[in-house]
Amino acid sequence: MVEVVAPNLLEVHGVSKSFGGVQAVRDLDIAVEKGAIAAIIGPNGAGKSTAIDLISGFKKPDSGTVMFDTHVVQGQPAYRMSRLGLARTFQTAREWPRLTVMDNMLAAAPQLGMDTMWRALFARRRLASKELADRQNARRLLTEFGLFDLRNELAGNLSGGQKRLLEFARIAIARPRMVLLDEPLAGVNPVLQDKILSAVHALNREGITILLIEHNLPWVEAASDRITVMAEGTAIASGRLSELRAHRGVIDAYLGEVVANG
Ligand code: ADP
Ligand code: MG
Repeated sequence: MVEVVAPNLLEVHGVSKSFGGVQAVRDLDIAVEKGAIAAIIGPNGAGKSTAIDLISGFKKPDSGTVMFDTHVVQGQPAYRMSRLGLARTFQTAREWPRLTVMDNMLAAAPQLGMDTMWRALFARRRLASKELADRQNARRLLTEFGLFDLRNELAGNLSGGQKRLLEFARIAIARPRMVLLDEPLAGVNPVLQDKILSAVHALNREGITILLIEHNLPWVEAASDRITVMAEGTAIASGRLSELRAHRGVIDAYLGEVVANG
């Protein structure tokens, strides 16, 4: 029988990055299939955030290759990555605090191209119909992410968890092909963790491939298809949580610590 392998949307090969004497990422390999929800776990300082910075173009790797779809992208700046359809979030949610929730959504909707803008000056109706479509789409997504009743609230007044949900809704309206989520539960009240879980699955249903970093292991297991463990800058194992719990290197590097501390 022929095995059908789903094509990878993201492939990281042998990527390394040092800061002065600190080797933050070392010979890192990660592949994420198109349509998947993949996760990275690992102790503090393992290099997870740096890996996301390197993939998303916020930092340049010293060596190694990053393939996004058919493009070789290592060292490309973040705005180019974003144009190719790769978005990312940060450990702290970023929204426009002085804009309403609805206006945050409209600001995240894909912009008309420059060329279209010029033509739109002569055909105002085009802009108006795009705005109408964006508004309808924003209302649908705010409803899906449980924020519709807050649409006229200033984003700065939302709770940590609500800001995360808005971040997810903004990603959904921006429609990147892939998003990297750095600790989506950071700053979120535990009672909202299930909502963030549903939001991750909702984004994925919108057709967005996801790579996320999180510390809450039961949550990571529920959120993702496949988990990669990083320690000391490199990937040491990947699989389901149950497989990883039985992996000697993972126990030594990470889960032992969690068990010991838990
Ligand atoms: P994680 O997200 O897994 O906690 P990080 O990627 O933030 O890990 O950090 C990996 C290592 O690289 C840590 O030792 C950290 O102190 C170091 N590091 C990260 N960013 C920088 C930087 N800009 N300058 C110096 N050292 C850094
Ligand atoms: Mg981090």
